[in-house]
Amino acid sequence: MVIKTIGIDLDETLVKLYPALKKIYSYNKIKYVPVKTLDGKGIPDKVRIGIQEALKNPDVMCHLKLYPFVMEKLLYLKKVKKCKLVIVTSRHDDIKEQTLHWLHKRFPVVDDVIITPPLFKIKRDTLLKNKIDLWIDDNPIEIEDVMNDIPCIMISNRNTRYNHYLRHKVPFVQYFFQINLNPFSR
Ligand SMILES: [Mg+2]
Repeated sequence: MVIKTIGIDLDETLVKLYPALKKIYSYNKIKYVPVKTLDGKGIPDKVRIGIQEALKNPDVMCHLKLYPFVMEKLLYLKKVKKCKLVIVTSRHDDIKEQTLHWLHKRFPVVDDVIITPPLFKIKRDTLLKNKIDLWIDDNPIEIEDVMNDIPCIMISNRNTRYNHYLRHKVPFVQYFFQINLNPFSR
């Protein structure tokens, strides 16, 4: 199997979302749910909505810093591995344009950007429609929804959200820059 097109999640995969939110908002509104509640149950919608509300603030968007060596890794995947790179992230409609503008400016190496509505389990259809060969995400809920149809890599930049069950089912790396495509080449 040859990986031609890689789909990549944005928040907490390429950029540090939570530190930016924490800086600006009361953490009560957006704090993590305990990892044990991620096993099969998902994050309550109210947590997700809290994040999206916070992201309507342009000041938050300007605080999204990249994880270390993200740009180097993206360049490697594009130039050395010759992959097409597509960022797939979810945002409310009212910050969609702003997010697209910011992403195109911040990630010129990426071939395409797709913004989906801020709902869980919505990425699978988008990824299939866009012929994504490999999906990279920090969110175990999205991984579990996608992994039967598309090979996945789960990352955990912060080592907080990974799901132990999934960790044995899909290639797992701690950091984005550790990703390699060897498990998928035959
Ligand atoms: Mg994410």
